[in-house]
Order: sequence, then C-alpha cells, then structure tokens
Amino acid sequence: MFEIYNSYTKKKEKFKPVTEGKMNIYTCGPTVYSNAHVGNFSAFLMADILVRYFKYSGYDVKWIMNITDVGHLTDDNEVTDDGEDKLEAASKRENKTVWEIARHYEELFMKDIKDLRLLPAFKYPRASEHVEEMIDMIKTLEEKDVIYETSDGLYFDISKFKKYGNLSGNVIESLQAGARVEVNEDKRSAFDFALWKKLIGKNENHIMKWDSPWGSGFPGWHIECSAMSKRYLGETLDFHTGGEDNKFPHHESEIAQSETANDKKYVNYWMHKSRVVVNNEKMSKSLGNFFTVQDLLKLGYTPESIRFTFVSVHYRSKLNFTEEKLQESQKTIDKFNEFIQFIIKSEETQENKSIASIIKSTKQQFEKAMDDDLNVSGALAPLFGFMKSIRKQITKTGISSENKEEILSFLRSMNSIFEVFDFEEKKEKELSADDQNIVDELIKKRDQFRAEKNWAEADKVRDELNKMGVKIEDKK
Ligand SMILES: [Zn+2]
Repeated sequence: MFEIYNSYTKKKEKFKPVTEGKMNIYTCGPTVYSNAHVGNFSAFLMADILVRYFKYSGYDVKWIMNITDVGHLTDDNEVTDDGEDKLEAASKRENKTVWEIARHYEELFMKDIKDLRLLPAFKYPRASEHVEEMIDMIKTLEEKDVIYETSDGLYFDISKFKKYGNLSGNVIESLQAGARVEVNEDKRSAFDFALWKKLIGKNENHIMKWDSPWGSGFPGWHIECSAMSKRYLGETLDFHTGGEDNKFPHHESEIAQSETANDKKYVNYWMHKSRVVVNNEKMSKSLGNFFTVQDLLKLGYTPESIRFTFVSVHYRSKLNFTEEKLQESQKTIDKFNEFIQFIIKSEETQENKSIASIIKSTKQQFEKAMDDDLNVSGALAPLFGFMKSIRKQITKTGISSENKEEILSFLRSMNSIFEVFDFEEKKEKELSADDQNIVDELIKKRDQFRAEKNWAEADKVRDELNKMGVKIEDKK
C-alpha cells in the first residue's frame, strides 16, 4: 500500500486513486527564459521517480508537465504582480524576439530532460497555446463573484476563498500585516493575485498578447496551471508536484482558482521537493555555484551520475549538492554495472535454488521502502545486500542460465525506476602494443606499492588502470 506525505495536510496518507488503476499527475514545468538549473531538475526528477514507481506498480499513468512561456513575472514571489514578464526581459537582454526566446529555451529544456532520462510526459502544454481555456476559467470565476477589475488587470479576491493559506501555512491576516507598501493601490489586498494583465503601464509594449472580454492582455502565471491541468487531467488530480518555492503564492493560488471554478477538490496529494543547496549555500549566479545540467556534463560528469545524485536522496531531505556527491554516485553506479557484467559473464553450471528467494526478499524490502513515501535511499540499501548474497551463491554453488535471466530481469525492473544501469555486455578488447607496455609498467608499479604496503598508492594505480579499461583481479 503506497503512502505519501501530503504537503497540504502535512501528514502521510494512504494513496487512493481518483480512478481505480489509474494515476494522473501534473508537474509545474519550466519557465523558458533561461537554462533550467539543477535545483529545478531535482523537482522534475522527483516527479519522474514517482511516475516510474507507479508504472512499476502497474498503474496507468498520465503525466502532464507544462511549459510556461508567458506571464511569469520577474518579481520572484510575485505577490506584488509588479515585475516584468521573465520572457520579455530575456528578449531584451538577448536581443531576440520573445517567441525565439521561448522556443530556444524550451528546446534546451527538452534536451536536458532527455539527457537525464526522464520519462516523456503525456504532453508538455505551452501556456501561450491555452489562453482560451484560461479566459474560460476566468469567466467562470467572474460569474462566481470572486474577482474584480482594476485599471491594470483582473485580480482574485483572496478574502473570498477561506482556505487560502492552508497549503503554505500563510495566514491571510499575517500576510496583510507583513505586506510591503502596495505598489498597485487599486488592489483590495496586497496578496490578491493577477488573473489577467492589461497592456498598460510597464506592460504597455508586451509582445505576447491576446484579446479577452477585459481587453487585450496576457494571463497571470497561476491561472495557466489551473486551466491546463483541467484541460488534460480533469478537475481533481491525484498528484500535483513542484518545488518547495512553488507552494506560495503559485500553488496556493492554483487551489483558490480551481476549487472556486470547479466546486471540487483540486488535488488529492501535493508533493514538494525540498530546496537544493550547493556546497551548503543557496544556489545563485553571483556565488558561482549555479549549475545547469549542461555545465555538469561539460565538466565530464555522466548523465547517470547527475540523475542518481538527485534521485538517491529522499525528496523531503535537504540535498547538499557537491561535486564529491557526483563522484560517489558514479562509484555506486559502477559497482552495479560491474555486478551486471559479472552476472553476464558468469559460467553457467547448475540451477541454484537460493536465487529466487534472494530476489523475492530483496524485492519485498525494496517495495516496502518505496511504498513508504518514496524512500529511495531505504530502497537502495537491500540492493547492495542483494549483490553480495548473489556473488556468494555463484562462488559457492554456481548458477544456471535461467538463474542469470532471473537476476538480470530483476535488475532491469529496478532500473525501470533508477534508469542508470548498463546492461550491454562489455566485450574484452585486445590491447595495442603501446598500451600493453603502459599496462605492464603500471602493474609493476602497483606490485611495488603493494610490497611496501602502500595501499593508497596501489589503489591509485588500479584506478588508473580501470580508466584504461583494464581490470585487475588479485587471486591466490
Ligand atoms: Zn504551475
């Protein structure tokens, strides 16, 4: 039975799907005005692991991740509705049209997604292509008398939605008290949020614009996700995921819009990825610890090691991202891959009756941990024990070709979630004469260090040999 920590109720709950056997999930996707950084990807990868585990468990999953290409303002927490559209700002900065910016960064995002092996979502709807649905939803909200018009746009009156603040824990009264000087004096409350922005003031020359009953303009960021999730997944979602920083005001406002417009519960389970820090500091361009996926690949890290670093830590623990962690991840992946090669190359002798029971108990432990709020680190632990026991069995009793297939197919099912293992048989290659000389020299050097009991140096030489694709085994 799958249990998940619901960040709305702040407790673990048993999962019950809206429709038996199905699971639908909406993930707030990127705002395509610059390269997504690894912090963004940690949230997308959390959703990927959830989707993959539900598929593994036999669910029919429908995953929607939107592309925000209009309406997300530069003022990060956006409660003032005062910033400039992030895409319009990027268009000036890079001297490209706003449409070029949108499609360019969307393309780069899709490349990152592929590199990090995220499962493809059912669809990546663009906000700019769903303005009609947004206008429809705003009209419904207008009929329900929860919005009002000012000279510069349409706003949701949060005092009309009593549950506003339940997700983030922000109480309206304390929000009001702590409010900064309101820029827009027409607003009834500083925290009323924009549904539609008109083309006046700093938005006078906004390039992306649409006609609406309230004049030409563009949608607010929050209404996009309410409208697109309804269009593709319906009025009540099983899961809605995002980063911790999406909770307020973005998700809080989505709830207000969707529940008022649809008269239905919007989301059954909310999941938020804890913020990522880099070398124990907040990631920022000025600190120089701002990594994009492509930055890390250029530094020589494999996509697998990046993926594993994010998915192997529980999504609710704070991840301190460091290059050492990437190296450790690579070592762990190598361990699994060496084991896979060991299995592939093991001599087929006789049937080993213990293999099936080792697989069965490992699988149970794995699922027990994953069912407990996606405890990935807890789910990985039995896999290390698994490798040890299997190796022991092979040395002791040997295995049959059926045993081999059982082991490999179990590991493949694990990899349908982790997606970092390599099952391709590695053929041994002949060394060139030059390489053979280098290898001989290195082995001599290593023997020397070992004779001197200088294990650290001996290990270094072995690593060097490994890098050349040469594996050393010390036998009696
Ligand atoms: Zn969103």
